[in-house]
Amino acid sequence: MSRNKLEDMLVKARKMLKNEGVGEYQLDAQLFMMKATGFTKVQLFTKNDYCLNNNEAEDFWDMVNKRAKRIPTQYIIGNCQFMGLDFLVSEAVLIPRQDTEILVETILEYRKNNEINNIIDIGTGSGCIPISLLSYGINNAVAVDISNDAIEVAKKNAALNKVLNRIQFVNSNLFEALGEEYYGKFDAIVSNPPYIAKDIIKGLMPEVKDFEPMIALDGGDDGLDFYKKIVPEGKKYLSSNGWMFFEIGYDQGVAVSRLLEAEGFQKVEVIKDLAGLDRVVLGKMG
Ligand code: GLN
Repeated sequence: MSRNKLEDMLVKARKMLKNEGVGEYQLDAQLFMMKATGFTKVQLFTKNDYCLNNNEAEDFWDMVNKRAKRIPTQYIIGNCQFMGLDFLVSEAVLIPRQDTEILVETILEYRKNNEINNIIDIGTGSGCIPISLLSYGINNAVAVDISNDAIEVAKKNAALNKVLNRIQFVNSNLFEALGEEYYGKFDAIVSNPPYIAKDIIKGLMPEVKDFEPMIALDGGDDGLDFYKKIVPEGKKYLSSNGWMFFEIGYDQGVAVSRLLEAEGFQKVEVIKDLAGLDRVVLGKMG
């Protein structure tokens, strides 16, 4: 048995990750091996007696050791997929979720019968929402985040996906830095704000609570802090008949619908995800 033999390293890594409670230990070990060697997934099987050189082996164990500490795979690899597109991620941004694809798909669906061309995304993080909307048909977007580090990541993602000329980034706490020149300008306000209730956060898996940005998760005592601000404050930025689209937690459909209705929004609707849970709330002005 050779120390740097691919097959033996994979076996050892799988065991290590499994012992640390990593769910996808098999897949993760394979991903790290592909990244360290440049092999495809098929090559991991056809070249299983390959001996890694010392650099490759060091890279591999570095990734495995990080994952054993429960650092999310996407932060270790540095990228992920969202809406079939590639996004860079770092610990400055929330890792894009499949749940959020429902939000993007809902907006694209509504766009078929409504004028939704110019949007603003509040709390853009990696930029996954506006960048995929721009990639699939929307004309222009403004992407807002309180974190400059997040904006740096989102800019790289806009360049990577070739939409940099149609997106403007604003470093702002919600609408604070958006002056009168933005009033009435947007067909839709879009947001996947932090919506987890404070008490729930400590029970989340270590990957999320220890490594994802707390400011991207924490929605205050009832998780609704950001909707309560965005709905009333955002109205003046909408064009007449403008829309709001939010991602929400599974138990927030009624509360967020009421917030929209209380501010005069019509056609308020809750959209479910593939698991049948409430996931998106939307409404139309006027
Ligand atoms: N808009 C980003 C996303 O959906 C970030 C969301 C957040 O940080 N709460 O992934």
